[in-house]
Amino acid sequence: MKETVVSGIRPTGKLHLGNYFGAVTNFVKMQYDYNCYFFIADLHSLTTHPTPQDLHGYVRHVLVEYLACGINPEETTIYIQSDVPEVAELYLYLNMNAYMGELERSTSFKDKVRSQPDNVNAGLLTYPTLMAADILIHRATKVPVGKDQEQHLEMTRTFGNRFNRLYNTDLFPESFAFSYSENLVKIPGLDGKGKMSKSNGENTCIYLSDSPEDIRKKVSRAVTDGGPTEENQQKPEAVQNLFDLMKIVSSADTISHFEDQYNKMAIRYGDFKKQLAEDMIIANAPIREKIEEISKDTLYLRQVAKHGALKARESAQKTIKEVRQLIGFKPF
Ligand code: AMP
Repeated sequence: MKETVVSGIRPTGKLHLGNYFGAVTNFVKMQYDYNCYFFIADLHSLTTHPTPQDLHGYVRHVLVEYLACGINPEETTIYIQSDVPEVAELYLYLNMNAYMGELERSTSFKDKVRSQPDNVNAGLLTYPTLMAADILIHRATKVPVGKDQEQHLEMTRTFGNRFNRLYNTDLFPESFAFSYSENLVKIPGLDGKGKMSKSNGENTCIYLSDSPEDIRKKVSRAVTDGGPTEENQQKPEAVQNLFDLMKIVSSADTISHFEDQYNKMAIRYGDFKKQLAEDMIIANAPIREKIEEISKDTLYLRQVAKHGALKARESAQKTIKEVRQLIGFKPF
């Protein structure tokens, strides 16, 4: 039997290169070898209080973009998280055995407390239990995610094992972060520090649907420095980040050309950024075309979502039935 895989992306806007290279490229490769569930994490996105119109629009974007990137709904179950209420039910049960101390220690929670001090809601605190419910509901063993999600996976194993111990069962298998590349991927942003993420600012992100003009503009404003002052010197973070981005979109010759220029102190950041932008445009072009095409076909989108919800619920209901019995919710 094929191993089960689960992963999702929050619909907080359009997908960026971080989502694409950190997660979606793995989804596309995995779909033929595993039993895959890829979802749109709309329940997770409620922590940021989107308006109903925004939420619906963002869910649509992610659905379109999953399909445009090559996730095949014939091979894979693509669904919207809120269409599977069993996830919310499992989240409730897992929360009963998730402790304040461990939730408060999560790095992503601490980051959110810092970045949005006016909205530290219980959904943010219990984000790892909802993520655990997403994975455990299908009893998945592999989760394709970027490096930023590693700690959440560890918490998922803790919650699953704790449930198993408490109810003397082996219902939940352990799941591990997965990537085809040797290490989990972290795509940097354009702001000189940190990862590409909408919460670090729109200008740190290159979106899959960005036009060539958008890409040229954003890359030309990317943070660099005054240039190297010694031969072969170590690059500062901002410059290293741009080289890391070049590694994912440019040819080996182009990269080594600019590495050489940097090491010889002859690099012109203007030329370097122009090349980076053009290579990003080329990498994005086929996906962007597909996004435009698929987004016109509402009937197709509706069919994909409906079919995915049915398949996901079938799997989720099997788990929830067992969970309810184990907990002691039994019919008289
Ligand atoms: P999120 O946008 O937090 O819902 O993340 C969705 C997926 O994209 C997760 O698997 C993340 O690990 C991945 N991801 C988001 N931003 C990045 C990034 N800058 N580098 C690598 N992976 C990322």
